[in-house]
Amino acid sequence: MTLIDSPAGQDRPNISVGPAPRRTTRQVVLSWYDHTVRVGGGAPVVVQSMTNTDTADPIATAIQVKDLAMAGSEVVRITVNTPEAAAQVPAIREQLDRMGVYVPLVGDFHYNGHKLLTQFPECAQALSKYRINPGNMGAGNKRDDNFAQMIEVACRYNKPVRIGVNWGSLDSSLMAKMMDENSRRAQPWAAQAVMREALVVSAISNAQRAETLGLPGDAIVLSCKVSHVQDLIAVYQDLASRCDYPLHLGLTEAGMGSKGIVASTAALAVLLQQGIGDTIRISLTPEPGGDRTREVVVAQEILQTMGLRAFTPMVVACPGCGRTSSTVFQELADSIQTYLRQQMPVWKTRYPGVETMNVAVMGCVVNGPGESQHADIGISLPGTGEVPSAPVYIDGRRTVTLKGDSIAGEFQAIVERYVEEKYGVGGQSR
Ligand code: SF4
Repeated sequence: MTLIDSPAGQDRPNISVGPAPRRTTRQVVLSWYDHTVRVGGGAPVVVQSMTNTDTADPIATAIQVKDLAMAGSEVVRITVNTPEAAAQVPAIREQLDRMGVYVPLVGDFHYNGHKLLTQFPECAQALSKYRINPGNMGAGNKRDDNFAQMIEVACRYNKPVRIGVNWGSLDSSLMAKMMDENSRRAQPWAAQAVMREALVVSAISNAQRAETLGLPGDAIVLSCKVSHVQDLIAVYQDLASRCDYPLHLGLTEAGMGSKGIVASTAALAVLLQQGIGDTIRISLTPEPGGDRTREVVVAQEILQTMGLRAFTPMVVACPGCGRTSSTVFQELADSIQTYLRQQMPVWKTRYPGVETMNVAVMGCVVNGPGESQHADIGISLPGTGEVPSAPVYIDGRRTVTLKGDSIAGEFQAIVERYVEEKYGVGGQSR
């Protein structure tokens, strides 16, 4: 084996730790009544989600928006695709207000957005932002007129917009023009490079046009969504270097289950680490009957595990191995994580700072005590053949030892007491 010496004059290699400083952007404010959510301009990275209910069904949509908001979504986008859907947007806003759900609604428009926003002024007013896809607005002069109409409505109601380009609906005339220009290059680019450039050019040129039409520059968010990780990283790195609009990140059509989560995380983590990204959405395809709020949890977990934001106490759990043949620690890790997440709607106001708490649930004596000591509160369960007892560690010190069949309930009660004492009124962290 050859050991590599440190550079001359250094004790060890200079390894940078942590994400790059956030990219400097304008700040866009989403408002409704006297509430606001800020995107970019130094604001924390915002978690977004999108409903999959029929917006023409205001009750089902309001309930799903509420579920997403309760899970932690800070902005919720709803489809506005028909007159029936547009007509119900004010009712959805009102229903949310009645339920005390304080989350801004973004209208997702394609093809007929210009008509819906002009024909349904109460819809235009109830929404806090409009998502516009310039690739789905017709062609030629018609496309320009439709775009202008939407921007005019945004100006009239003082609403920000997201100009959201998507490679599945990229402006075909722009793409054809750029392919044509590319063919005349001495050394033509690969078709994929032209596509990436077309996405960026489409987003920026439409944003500039919106400004020319009177929309303030600080009322524009951009996105360029693609469905492959390397394309997304390349496109956003380029976009970030060419403008100062806040950027909405998301891998479109990420897919189902672990593939969707892994692909989204791989792409977004690289960009977030580079300081790129002001709001994120994880476009997971739910399993049939699956929980739509999964995309919110994944978005939060990406930001929290990267140390960019904290939303809910995190549970560190070992993967288990041949040293523990029982499922007790798996069940405890799962139940305590679920319990902690369920408490957060109340805890986040009652116990400020609790979202940064770390809990460890470990399967045996090998790493159990050490990992538990590093957590705020941890438990080391007995592995196969070990004495059937589970020491609990609080702030690095071993406290009680739990035994018997009610370890889970007793540990949860200890966690509750710890939260009250540390984060409650008069607690150590106040
Ligand atoms: S803590 Fe014990 S049970 Fe868990 S992975 Fe490590 S050795 Fe295996």
